[in-house]
Amino acid sequence: MTVNLLDFDLEGLAAWCETLGEKRFRATQLFRWIHQRGASDFESMTDLAQALRSKLSANASVKALSVVSEHTSADGTIKWLFDVGGGNAVETVFIPEDDRATLCISSQAGCAVGCRFCSTGAQGFSRNLSTGEIVAQLWYAEHELKRRMGRTERLISNVVMMGMGEPLQNYQALVPALRVMLDDHGYGLSRRRLTVSTSGVVPMIDRLGQDCPVALAVSLHASNDTLRTDLVPLNRKHPLPELMRACQRYLAHAPRDFVTFEYCMLDGVNDSPSHARELLSLLQDVELGVACKVNLIPFNPFPQSGLVRSPAARVQAFAEVLQDAGIVTTTRKTRGDDIDAACGQLAGDVQDRTGINRRRVLHKPIMMALTGASAGATKVED
Ligand code: SAH
Ligand code: SF4
Repeated sequence: MTVNLLDFDLEGLAAWCETLGEKRFRATQLFRWIHQRGASDFESMTDLAQALRSKLSANASVKALSVVSEHTSADGTIKWLFDVGGGNAVETVFIPEDDRATLCISSQAGCAVGCRFCSTGAQGFSRNLSTGEIVAQLWYAEHELKRRMGRTERLISNVVMMGMGEPLQNYQALVPALRVMLDDHGYGLSRRRLTVSTSGVVPMIDRLGQDCPVALAVSLHASNDTLRTDLVPLNRKHPLPELMRACQRYLAHAPRDFVTFEYCMLDGVNDSPSHARELLSLLQDVELGVACKVNLIPFNPFPQSGLVRSPAARVQAFAEVLQDAGIVTTTRKTRGDDIDAACGQLAGDVQDRTGINRRRVLHKPIMMALTGASAGATKVED
């Protein structure tokens, strides 16, 4: 069994190089070959001594994920479905815009949190991705697209951990992956342009603030505990007061001076003007309030969810309550509609079309890729 070098941040790679009897600085060269130049063939790493190249070929590999499918939208959004083995697949979405290029990455196959409005939640948890599998999504997208475009300079400027899974329930694999993304010898992302989105795993929000502070998005979706527990079952364990205090603590370490709250707009469930006012009171509460921006996400329906997207006028009215009180509130644009890729949708039987076990695969972005639903490409405001 060879070691997958995508599993290592630079520190880990240096320690591993030492076990081969190599100086630590060799790890920096190797790391740059892999992450800056997209190399996977050790023989092409011409500034490494032949003896080292041979040792690497014998002991290590750069393990890419295999692509099950790729869909490109007229607006340039690209979605890949990657096979992660054992009947599992995860999706990655590339979202180009005028001033940035964002990659939306998955952290788990399935998800154990079980939010009512999310098809990943409906499908249950399959397994955590390894660091290498998280990093491989960026490694592939960055270098494959650079090759296609004939570019040499960095392409992906922003990463959002908003694909399949709850990143803070895969903390051990997540943090080294974030470090690879941040490293100047790796992808050189700024902490402000790397966002972890969480449904509210409070102890891990604190740890992330200590270990690797990046931009934080919190999936709120409700203005009180009763409603939130119904929509996001994790709320029973970590209710709103606890979550809001964790956000306050996080801001002491964060690269941005606000938290982004995501709020999925569900018709007749959480989208009334009184919900908006209740949310406003929470956000402005003297004890619990936190500096924030709010991102409203029109719900992308999937069969059996029993939920419906809020009408645009209701989303607008909700936004205005917050905006009138001075809270920056945006409504998430859906990208890639023409290739039907929207966040949270589940339609049709995937197994028939891909041969991949539906129960373990199906999640929002994946579904879009496979079935033509639209994967509400995810964008977080700068
Ligand atoms: N598990 C993390 C990150 C992945 S989900 C989290 O929950 O934050 C990323 C975003 O997609 C979350 O804000 C979630 O609310 C949203 N989402 C999930 N299902 C959706 C659906 N059916 N329609 C719209 N947004 C959805
Ligand atoms: Fe998991 Fe996030 Fe979906 Fe909730 S919204 S089930 S936490 S992926």
